[in-house]
Amino acid sequence: MQIPAPFDYARATDVDNALALLERHGPDARLVAGGHSLLPMMKLRLARPEWLIDINGLAELDFLVREGNVFRVGALTRHTALFESSDVARLFPIVTDAEQVIADPVVRNRGTIGGSLCQADPAEDLSTVCDVLQAEAVIRGPAGERTVSMDEFHRGPYETAVGQNELLVELRFPIRDRSGSAYEKVERRVGDWAVAAAGAAVVLAADGTIDDASVGLTAVGLDGTVSGIGDLLHGRRPDEDLFTEAGRMAAAACEPVSDQRGGIDYKRHLADELTRRVLRSACARAAEQEG
Ligand SMILES: Cc1cc2nc3c(=O)[nH]c(=O)nc-3n(C[C@H](O)[C@H](O)[C@H](O)COP(=O)(O)OP(=O)(O)OC[C@H]3O[C@@H](n4cnc5c(N)ncnc54)[C@H](O)[C@@H]3O)c2cc1C
Repeated sequence: MQIPAPFDYARATDVDNALALLERHGPDARLVAGGHSLLPMMKLRLARPEWLIDINGLAELDFLVREGNVFRVGALTRHTALFESSDVARLFPIVTDAEQVIADPVVRNRGTIGGSLCQADPAEDLSTVCDVLQAEAVIRGPAGERTVSMDEFHRGPYETAVGQNELLVELRFPIRDRSGSAYEKVERRVGDWAVAAAGAAVVLAADGTIDDASVGLTAVGLDGTVSGIGDLLHGRRPDEDLFTEAGRMAAAACEPVSDQRGGIDYKRHLADELTRRVLRSACARAAEQEG
């Protein structure tokens, strides 16, 4: 039986209260959102917080709202809410693609986008999605609020820019005309973590050429997005030859490790194939969008 080490528990009443509790209890306090990453680690005693600050009651962190050309997503938004949102599906189909293959309904009903990003597991699907969509993270702490790019947010495996006494409060996604996006993942069985996955977002110019593009990979040793792929695709007409070039570039950019789920060559092959597929879908979706 796996039992966590003893801990105390406080239920935050609002964001300011959560920050005050973090400040009061110091480095031994941890926030808990959906608990689907933190609680398994506590059961294995890989995490031993003395205080759990529960933010599940904070409705102010649970929202999906469009403001002009920005789509704002509260940090406590559950996977299920993202998956079921028609606005999200229309504006950012990559999110719906990814949510469809994240875990199972039990995890999706409780797990949150904020917890996913703050956990910063290298196999986390939503981290790649946020990278590719060029999202910004809004972090609140005792000194006020700051907004950071995804490059600044990610610090490495299980490490982010969110300080011990801070909260991730929201993600902001730019809405762009004639844009499309897609995510594909290879997993050993339904609901599993990725053996490898790829996400792409593209913006088309009025003449149908690619104006902007980014590609990210999950679980194959790539930090951020594939460097140089935007330059490769910019100004070119989407076609199979171009997707092949991009797939090769993505495969060369990653550094997968060999494990029971596959060798390095197999995972590079997945990076190549999945990149072609997501670019193909993202370009087709962008062409369909009326702006
Ligand atoms: C069986 C299973 C299968 C899974 N499969 C996948 C999968 O295929 N793909 C995938 O991407 N994920 C998968 N997950 C992870 C799932 O998406 C989790 O929900 C997610 O990783 C963590 O979200 P959470 O809200 O549960 O975070 P929690 O476990 O509550 O927290 C995780 C960490 O983030 C911190 N934190 C939480 N919220 C905030 C905040 N607002 N500000 C600052 N810090 C915060 C916590 O202190 C903790 O350190 C799986 C999980 C399980 C249990």
